[in-house]
Formats: sequence, C-alpha cells, structure tokens
Amino acid sequence: MRTLDDLDPDGKRVLVRVDFNVPLDERQRITDDVRIRAALPTLEELRSRGARQLILAAHLGRPKDREPELSLKPAAERLSELLGVDVALAPSLDELPDGEVVMLENVRYEPGETKNDPKLAARYAALADLYVNDAFGAAHRAHASTEAVAHLLPSAAGRLMEREVRTLKGILEDPKRPLVAVMGGAKVTDKIGVLDVFLDRADIVLVGGAMCFPFFKAQGHEVGDSLCEREGIDPARAALEKGGDKLRLPSDLVAGREFSADTEVSSLDGVDVPAGWMGLDIGRSSAESYAAVIETAGTVFWNGPMGAFELDPFADGTRRVAEAVAECPGTTVVGGGDSAAALAQFGLADRVDHLSTGGGASLELMEGKELPGVVALS
Ligand code: ADP
Ligand code: MG
Repeated sequence: MRTLDDLDPDGKRVLVRVDFNVPLDERQRITDDVRIRAALPTLEELRSRGARQLILAAHLGRPKDREPELSLKPAAERLSELLGVDVALAPSLDELPDGEVVMLENVRYEPGETKNDPKLAARYAALADLYVNDAFGAAHRAHASTEAVAHLLPSAAGRLMEREVRTLKGILEDPKRPLVAVMGGAKVTDKIGVLDVFLDRADIVLVGGAMCFPFFKAQGHEVGDSLCEREGIDPARAALEKGGDKLRLPSDLVAGREFSADTEVSSLDGVDVPAGWMGLDIGRSSAESYAAVIETAGTVFWNGPMGAFELDPFADGTRRVAEAVAECPGTTVVGGGDSAAALAQFGLADRVDHLSTGGGASLELMEGKELPGVVALS
C-alpha cells in the first residue's frame, strides 16, 4: 500500500477522502467528533508539506436524495475549528470555492457514488492533482470516491488508513503472544467470520455479550428470553467443535426481566436462563477470569461489549474487561462503535493502543478479506 511517503504534495491540489460519518443529534449537532479528529494528522501533514489546496470528500449516512439533514456543513464547521482555517463547503462539484481547505457535499448525494461510477470518479479526479484516502471506515466499500477515483490520480493512503491497516494486519500476521481475542456484542452472524479466524490464530478466544446465547443454545442450555440469533446456532456449534479449549464461554450471568435499567435483576450461578428472564451481562466470576486472561496477554483484540453496558445494572462485566484491557501491558486494539463507546463511558479510551475507527471495515479486514479501498492504493 502506498502512503504519504510516496507522494509529493508540494504546490498540489489534493483530493482527500475522509471518514466524517459522525453521529448527529436531531438538530444536526455533532455528538462525537472522534472521526474528524482522527483525520487531522493527515490533513496537517499535507498542509505542512506545501499542498496548495485540500479538497475533502466524505459521506454521511445513507441519503436517498439531497436530504439537507445529511449535509456535511456541521462537519465542515467542526473541522474549521479544529484546523484553525476556514473550510468552505462546495455547493456542487462544478463550483469549487477558493481556499486552502474546501469540502465537497456528501458524496452520497451523487447517484453514481455507491455504484462506483467511473464518470463520477472522473469528475472527482478533475478537481485535483493527487488523491489520498484516509477513510478507513469506508474502505470495505467499492464506491466512486473510495475506489474508482484512486486509479485516476497518483494516490496513497493517509496516516490514519496506514495505521489502521498496519495495526490490524499486524495482529493477524505477527502478534505478540499470547494473542487473546475478546468477542461480544449483539450480532453473532456479523462476527462469526472473525471469530473463526481467531480460532485459527489466537491462543484464547473469550466470548461474552449476546453472542454467548447461540453457543449456550447449541450446548443444550436454556436461554430464556435472551437475545439469541437463530442463524447463529449452527455456526456456534461448528465453532465449539473447532475451538476446543481455546474457546471460553461465561460460567455465570446477570439476568434481567427486561432490557431496562430499572428492571428486576438476578445473578445466576450458572448459564441456564429461566423463562421470563434475559441474560444481559456476564457474571462476576466470568468477568474476573476473563480479566485474568486479558491482563497477561501479549496482544488483545476486543470487539463487542460483554453485556448491555448502556444499562447500569448490566455494565459490570464490560467495565471489568475494559479495565483489564487498559491494564494489559501488551498491545491492545479495540474495534467496534459500541466497544469504543463503552471505553469512553468508563474513561478508559486513551488507555488502549489502538481504537479502530472502522466497524465494518475492521471486521472485514480481520476476516482476511481484501478491502477495495485499500487494494486500489496498492
Ligand atoms: P460493537 O459496536 O462494539 O461492534 P455490537 O454493535 O455488536 O458491538 O453490540 C453492541 C450492543 O450489544 C450494545 O448495544 C449492547 O447493549 C448489546 N448487548 C450486549 N450484550 C447483550 C445481551 N446480553 N443482551 C442484549 N444486548 C446485548
Ligand atoms: Mg455496534
């Protein structure tokens, strides 16, 4: 993969694809600007190396037409504050404002964007001399601004993209051992591919969150009203066979009557969940034994919370695991939006080595898939 070391931006106009797909509240105010901050090293480096103009391209949400609620105006304003320069928003691809840093409107306003349309890519390319892709979170999509355009200009990965790919690939290719994978969250089917890869490569795989229940079901336990994806049961059975001792499941659980912070709560000694209850967190003894494994790891990859951490009575398992990841002297990498939110909630976000900005992209990379946005820069 080419990087900024392979480009000379001096005096050039540089089209930079960034991932500014930030959460907004109902009044279009940004509630979390981590992704915008994550692009600053690349933007600052390009400016300090003499780039004449930066033209930023990004998507926001999934607009069906030019929905004004999905304008990138709030992102342009926040970037302007962070960079300390004006960031003008281009009214259209044919009306590019002057200025050292300008921003195109939501690329998904263009019907050809998600079709990887070569004509649209040619219009993007006509705006600049060089192309830099720093949008790791969008690298698993072959879209006009992430894939087709990369072939039309001298192109390279930005520093965020470089760091994400290097760190995540490093875990698969040459991890410090023991390599411990911690997998949880809600959707087993999205993550079973990654779990499978870790059953090959990791030394220990710890499973928590709602991800447990297809495993428990496959083992013949009662899951009560727990969130348990049916399509997850067969893959879970296969993973149990393949995983042997490597694969660890909780030995106790915390259950609630319903998914709510003020519901009745019960600590279960085992993992059978009675009818009328749902398992919403791993139990105390499971959390302690997971923490002990994590604290002695050479490398930790964590994706997915251990329980419904948003609800106070069910946050302890995730908190204990987050603390152990923070304490671990090895290399620690966390992927997934909710896992990152959990770390932030516990004030531990700056205690991990790498917090991936790309949910889907990081899972696909860990599964060993080639990301079109990365391949186009190679
Ligand atoms: P990430 O974004 O880190 O990849 P996911 O999106 O897969 O994580 O899962 C996060 C969600 O899973 C959280 O909203 C959390 O409430 C939910 N969750 C975790 N454990 C359980 C459980 N036992 N029952 C219901 N929901 C759960
Ligand atoms: Mg999530």
